[in-house]
Amino acid sequence: MTTVSPLSSITEQRDLIRADIAAAAKADGRGADDVTLIAVSKKQPDDRIDAALEAGLRVFGENRVQEAQMRWTERRASYPDLRLHLIGPLQTNKAGDAVALFDVIETLDREKLAVSLAREMQKQNLERECLIQVNTGDEDQKAGITPQEAVAFSRHCRQTHGLNITGMMCIPPVDEEPAMHFALLKTLAAEAGLDVLSMGMSGDYETAIRFGATHIRVGSSLFGARPMA
Ligand SMILES: *Cc1c(COP(=O)(O)O)cnc(C)c1O
Repeated sequence: MTTVSPLSSITEQRDLIRADIAAAAKADGRGADDVTLIAVSKKQPDDRIDAALEAGLRVFGENRVQEAQMRWTERRASYPDLRLHLIGPLQTNKAGDAVALFDVIETLDREKLAVSLAREMQKQNLERECLIQVNTGDEDQKAGITPQEAVAFSRHCRQTHGLNITGMMCIPPVDEEPAMHFALLKTLAAEAGLDVLSMGMSGDYETAIRFGATHIRVGSSLFGARPMA
């Protein structure tokens, strides 16, 4: 039996994903450089994280603030060009920690959180990029602002709170064709005058790119299944 090292496996997967990105971007009249691969490192063991860094990956996504602090606070010091994206729901009492650690907060979806983020950025003298999370499927259990409110909310966050809103993100319902959700997000972002579209995960990133994704969030296809519960 041969064991595959995390480095060779992640490097191999990264190359396959990059080839997919190039093909899908081309189909959308864009180049591979127009799409950023966010390596979703949540629940992955240290050896895979270090292998991903060794493979040259620098943009990572995490969905929990505390877990991300444990994983990235020290590594951040060794990799000044690291870019960390928060892709999970954020409670207002964690806004300060999130602002301190993350370069991009992708899950801004309500007024109370906008207030907390603006206050924390001012207090820490840091300007972080924010994306508006849109609940494109109007699912009760899912975070995100409704599609109806998304454009006005993004303008409000810019104008009233002075937040640096650069785009929108969505997580389509698991049981629906994702394409229509990606198309909706693109329409909303265009209406709001925003360029960044964070959409597409391991199962649907090629579709997302064909529909205009500028950022894809890929975990299991890159790292392998998440072993930590
Ligand atoms: C976990 C997660 C991902 C990555 O999921 P995979 O299917 O492993 O690629 C992407 N986006 C969000 C918001 C996530 O929580």
